[in-house]
Amino acid sequence: MRIVRFSPVAADPILKLGKDPLFGLLNDDQTIAVIEGDPLYQGVRPVGKAVPLSQVRLLAPVLPRSKVVCIGKNYADHAKEMGGEAPAEPVIFLKPNTSVIGPGDTIAWPAMSDRVDHEAELAIVIGRICKDVPKERINDVIFGYTLANDVTARDLQKKDGQWTRAKGFDTFCPLGPWIETDFLPGKQSITATLNGEVKQSAHLSDMIFDIPTIINFVSQVMTLLPGDVILTGTPAGIGPMPEKSTITVAIEGLGELTNRVSAHG
Ligand code: MG
Repeated sequence: MRIVRFSPVAADPILKLGKDPLFGLLNDDQTIAVIEGDPLYQGVRPVGKAVPLSQVRLLAPVLPRSKVVCIGKNYADHAKEMGGEAPAEPVIFLKPNTSVIGPGDTIAWPAMSDRVDHEAELAIVIGRICKDVPKERINDVIFGYTLANDVTARDLQKKDGQWTRAKGFDTFCPLGPWIETDFLPGKQSITATLNGEVKQSAHLSDMIFDIPTIINFVSQVMTLLPGDVILTGTPAGIGPMPEKSTITVAIEGLGELTNRVSAHG
């Protein structure tokens, strides 16, 4: 299933959708079957209404109530380009949930920074409260997968020595375009394309720590809640996004996540 969260472009008098964000199932014919409530908490229950994809604005498919956990240096070639060795165990950090935006939203260039980078990443969406998850039970706690851009103010990352400011600005966590519940990470390609030019290109199988290891490790540190998102690291090829550029993250089977960058703040 492809689960989207969306806002009707205009209130529809026939469907009576209103303007509040809704969840739905994206069908192959580019319609969205509206579902009741939040599927993370209430399951997937179609209400019998459908709306064309063209008549809605897609939002981030999940709005984390709690946290976005990130894995740093999870591709050996990226660890190398950052001037370090591949880590012996996962390096984790947090982005605030207020950094999340959806497909098509604008990444706001903060006035504090002179360099804003893209980082294409696979994102895991957690579906259940869980702690100390054994590797063989991860599929019991994963709701699905989506795409993420771990936007980073690279100059501030170097300057601060820790990453909260560099990675925590509002709009620095684009997510979407949908949550795929049937995705199995394997050898799929992952790319970042900046103004039409491919900048990052790798395969999910290039990760140093795989998904079972990541969930097992993170859940030994902190309880994971429904709607929590885990970003699984970025491959080599990170670099700055110029003012007003367009960045697209893509993973085979998960679609594309495109955002524009604002002018320098
Ligand atoms: Mg990252």
